[in-house]
Amino acid sequence: MFIDHDESYEQIREAVKRLCDDFPGEYWRRQDSESRYPAEFVQALVDTGYLSVLVPEKYGGSGLDLKAACIILETIHETGGNGAACHAQMYTMGTLLRHGTEAQKQTWLPGIADGTLRLQAFGVTEPGSGTDTTRITTTAVREGDDYVVNGQKIWTSRAEHSDLMLLLARTAPREASPKPTQGLSVFIVDLREEVGKSVTITPIETMINHSTTSVFFDGMRVPAENLIGQEGDGFKYILDGMNAERILIASECIGDARFLVQRAAAYAREREVFGRPIGQNQGIQFPIAEAHIETEAAALMVERAATYFDEARPCGAEANMAKLLASEASWKSADVCMQTFGGFAFAAEYDIERKFRETRLYRIAPVSTNLILSHVGTHVLGMPKSF
Ligand SMILES: Cc1cc2nc3c(=O)[nH]c(=O)nc-3n(C[C@H](O)[C@H](O)[C@H](O)COP(=O)(O)OP(=O)(O)OC[C@H]3O[C@@H](n4cnc5c(N)ncnc54)[C@H](O)[C@@H]3O)c2cc1C
Repeated sequence: MFIDHDESYEQIREAVKRLCDDFPGEYWRRQDSESRYPAEFVQALVDTGYLSVLVPEKYGGSGLDLKAACIILETIHETGGNGAACHAQMYTMGTLLRHGTEAQKQTWLPGIADGTLRLQAFGVTEPGSGTDTTRITTTAVREGDDYVVNGQKIWTSRAEHSDLMLLLARTAPREASPKPTQGLSVFIVDLREEVGKSVTITPIETMINHSTTSVFFDGMRVPAENLIGQEGDGFKYILDGMNAERILIASECIGDARFLVQRAAAYAREREVFGRPIGQNQGIQFPIAEAHIETEAAALMVERAATYFDEARPCGAEANMAKLLASEASWKSADVCMQTFGGFAFAAEYDIERKFRETRLYRIAPVSTNLILSHVGTHVLGMPKSF
């Protein structure tokens, strides 16, 4: 059943909730404790068309807007699930959609839309460069009809569960480029033939279940026709994809925050200590109310950012502010929920400690709080850059 174009946002929310009913807390706890990829959940999203909402109808998707995608991810998280196993299948194709040639779109997008091709690996971060993307050292050197790629990426999530990867590599040395952001290029890499040969994927053990990896490239040949846009301009192509990523991840944070606030409030109403519900104590009640207020305020900024994105207006500042506010709200809600549950918060069966771990990620990835503050301080408020 693919999504009807006219389906309203609330209908989408209700339909996603019904899908999530089949994947309760017990399911997510098992994935977490076994560090397992939630393959059945991802397949259910593929089958119902939810991962291809942003792909235009012309290429087999449902051509909905970012707001619809936000609602899908928010709902998954609000019901206690986690969209990180597949959220990138929604937005990574945006770089191809906006900057690829018609031939490239015809080659990849229909498969991405029907789920037979997974494009959910995004190889940007490297161990040596960190947040300073202009200092990546993975190179792609033109040789005849191919580029030859050598280097290493880190934190490339879902690479083991992806057929394709969007890869950022240096095609010209930083020093030889007019600006540090130039000389970087974006490629669609078909991993299927390369893994085990010129590509080695090594899982990283992490505090959350995130299927993240290190990826090594040793003489990987990528056909020149897989270069997206102009050679050397890749940085700007990934930047606008990053706005979509930040807004969608902010929606996941809103979902997490609502899940945690609801859990905290419900527990505070029921749990009796000293002969009365703990929620009657303002020391318990007020932090939960505060977390709720901050969550709903952050949700408004997420909505504004998504609206600007959908109207093709500049939305860098809003996407960043939404991501910062939403990640702070979900982290605060997690901490408040832990405090409300007391010792029981540590028991895995309540899903609170899992969400506590999961929400912490988004103050760091896909962009850290400090870097957002720097963006707002310099690009929005015109203060001098510190680096
Ligand atoms: C679970 C997980 C999944 C991820 N998935 C992906 C993925 O799929 N693809 C991908 O490409 N990347 C991925 N990442 C990488 C993620 O985007 C980076 O970890 C994040 O952007 C921070 O970069 P870093 O870890 O290199 O930190 P660093 O750049 O080393 O920074 C460390 C700390 O210093 C701060 N800092 C650095 N410079 C400054 C400054 N000038 N002023 C103030 N503070 C500063 C940062 O804010 C940060 O808190 C993932 C990371 C994690 C943990």
